[in-house]
Amino acid sequence: MVQIAGETFHVYFLGTAGALPTTNRNPSCIMIRRGSDTLLFDCGEGAQQQMMRARTGFTVDAIFITHWHADHYLGVPGLLQTMSFMGRTEPLKIYGPRWVHEFVDFVEGISRTPLGFVLQPRELSDGMTISFDGYHVRAFASRHNTLGLGYILAEDERPGRFDREKAISLGVPPGPLFGCLQRGESVIIESNGVRTEVTPDQILGPPRPGRKVVYTGDTRPYFRGWAEYAMGADLLIHDATYDNSEADRARDVYHSTAGEAATVACEIKAACLALVHISSRYTGTKTHIEDAKEYYTGEVIAPDDLEMIEITYRS
Ligand SMILES: [Zn+2]
Ligand SMILES: [Zn+2]
Repeated sequence: MVQIAGETFHVYFLGTAGALPTTNRNPSCIMIRRGSDTLLFDCGEGAQQQMMRARTGFTVDAIFITHWHADHYLGVPGLLQTMSFMGRTEPLKIYGPRWVHEFVDFVEGISRTPLGFVLQPRELSDGMTISFDGYHVRAFASRHNTLGLGYILAEDERPGRFDREKAISLGVPPGPLFGCLQRGESVIIESNGVRTEVTPDQILGPPRPGRKVVYTGDTRPYFRGWAEYAMGADLLIHDATYDNSEADRARDVYHSTAGEAATVACEIKAACLALVHISSRYTGTKTHIEDAKEYYTGEVIAPDDLEMIEITYRS
């Protein structure tokens, strides 16, 4: 079998704090790098310094904000100014729920340092999808104490497995024609003056799912309407502001416990659960992880700020 090399896919946890930052954790900011694209999901205060520490650079293609609580967007104005100082000229898309236009109007209106590039705000709502080359981002309604969205980044399906032996048995010589078939193109084989067409479906197995990452933003454990799109995610990044001992508080303030995040991971059959938006009341995350594992048998992590994980294809 021949594997087609896919695009690289990395998730940077630039900010994993709850509403209050701590000396170890910055407010919410997740960077996803897929191939040459860089997307930010939330951009809390200090995000640009986290980008420096993580050595990611400032080339961001789009920013997705989950909701208009300050711990999720205060990093945007400073980052924009830095991008401008560094000579950015490409327009920047900023996506978010209702009030994204007001946010951009405010940032541009108050600033006495005009940006060297255009901001392109776009309001999203539940079920809306933004397409990129090879993947898309789908917004879904979260359940918080203000209007909020979570996001599912999902790659397009991959071609099925390439059966090398079958290709050779059909007379296709190893080389450039293999690539044509892998890309879904038919090829013509000539043997003893006889021309034969070999089609991709003779060589390729059924299409395989691409990689998928879900980021909920601040929310109660709530998956109605979006679970089917998130099903089988490689990574679920979920609000886990509290450990299970604070379940009442979590419900009152429209956040989740680690255990509740785990129930969502179970529901969507995620391979890995990342607990984020950790309240400043906790000095460690051992209890969070234990609490999540009571409800979920997959991998559970509570990343520190600046941790990066690679999302690889699952067999
Ligand atoms: Zn928050
Ligand atoms: Zn919030």
